[in-house]
Amino acid sequence: MTKRALITGLTGQDGAYLARSLLTKGYEVLGLVRRSASAEFMQERLKWLGIHGDVRLVDGDMIDLSSLIRICRENQPDEIYNLAAQSFVTSSWSQPFLTGEVTALGATNLLEAMRLEVPGARFYQASSSEMYGLVQQPVQSESTPFYPRSPYAVAKLYAHWIAVNYRESFDLHVSSGILFNHESPLRGIEFVTRKVTDGVARIKLGLTDKLKLGNLDARRDWGHAADYVEAMWAMLQQDIPDDYVIATGRTTTVRQMCQIAFSHAGLNMEDHVEVDPAFIRPAEVDVLIGDPSKAKRVLGWEATTDLETMMREMVDADLVRVGFEIQKDRARVEAHG
Ligand code: GDP
Repeated sequence: MTKRALITGLTGQDGAYLARSLLTKGYEVLGLVRRSASAEFMQERLKWLGIHGDVRLVDGDMIDLSSLIRICRENQPDEIYNLAAQSFVTSSWSQPFLTGEVTALGATNLLEAMRLEVPGARFYQASSSEMYGLVQQPVQSESTPFYPRSPYAVAKLYAHWIAVNYRESFDLHVSSGILFNHESPLRGIEFVTRKVTDGVARIKLGLTDKLKLGNLDARRDWGHAADYVEAMWAMLQQDIPDDYVIATGRTTTVRQMCQIAFSHAGLNMEDHVEVDPAFIRPAEVDVLIGDPSKAKRVLGWEATTDLETMMREMVDADLVRVGFEIQKDRARVEAHG
């Protein structure tokens, strides 16, 4: 029998990769979308992966419980993946209330809709390594205490604990994946890896000469989103729901990550990168490094793409994208004389 999955945050990086993976596995995939003027633009990632015609879009909103109840009742999903969030850390200081509403209370709404309408379904909550914040242990595992350092991380921590609470209170199959940073050519331009690879492409193709960044000494454990969505799925195939750290176990500075991207394009980072205080955060998470051993032991999951390979893939994709933009601009100029 065909399984049906509901994904919130479908139009984001992880939603797109997860949808593709589930379609390949034979699932029927439904994606929650908010009605908005930019709906067409929002499907860009699904188009990039060539799956925009294969996913059924359902109208609803994470902050509208009634819409989530209706969607669950009408569609009876077997698996629910909650990837919806205001996910950019910097914006969470300028929009703390919205971040809490969507990221924290939105998760509660979706759990409530599942409890009321499809209590036999399985639920995945996208938790985040940002919850470790001011890290309490040198390497972070499922038992490391949390210390969030941004409104985003505080909201994610609420969502994480409400997911655990619904599992324990109502005996629901709810699992939470504490995912460390994961990137890809579909990463939003506001995140540092993609900002760097887009910047490298623009410099290489002569559109600009400088790239302004913030803290180059921060360290992150960066993996590939296409690997990480497999861990989400694997969690929901277990008999017993649980929480898992998903990471590579390797940490790299922003500076080193930049060097990989610049050198792949034959450029010298020192010639182009400038530190701009505008990109320094009110509170920083200095270092993250995850211990994925439980995921390996129980789920048989392991990160397969290393940072170098991923950065090269991202730079190549941005060279194509920016090259295409330049061609379009030229054609426009020629058409208008
Ligand atoms: P996050 O870990 O979810 O906040 O992912 P980001 O990709 O947004 O940021 C990762 C790290 O890169 C953080 O420690 C940032 O302070 C650092 N960083 C340095 N310069 C920049 C920048 O220009 N933009 C962003 N987004 N992050 C930067």
